[in-house]
Amino acid sequence: MEPFDSIEKLITEHGSAAILREHIALLKEQMTAKDAKIKELEVLLKHTETKLDDYKRQVDRFQDEKPADRCPFCRRTTGQLTKLDPHPVFHFQGWKVAHYKCSNPQCGKTYDKNLEG
Ligand SMILES: [Zn+2]
Repeated sequence: MEPFDSIEKLITEHGSAAILREHIALLKEQMTAKDAKIKELEVLLKHTETKLDDYKRQVDRFQDEKPADRCPFCRRTTGQLTKLDPHPVFHFQGWKVAHYKCSNPQCGKTYDKNLEG
């Protein structure tokens, strides 16, 4: 049955070629979707990096605007703010208690200050 065999073979090959084409098309689609997702994530990353830079700049500005406090013990401007708490009595008026630690190695004392709101 030689002629039928070759016809059958032709049908099988043609069939699998069509399936192969479908698979390739599907893979292309998936790759396109993945490329789009990667582009989307790249944009998101860029946006996040920009935000992070903004925050870093804000922290730098805050540290520049809040220079070290004058330590009441050694009189040097080496008092570093370590913590801010709401004032125990006047918290409703926005008062805060600032906790400082002196960074002068010869002093190193801690002290608190009331900050009016
Ligand atoms: Zn001190």
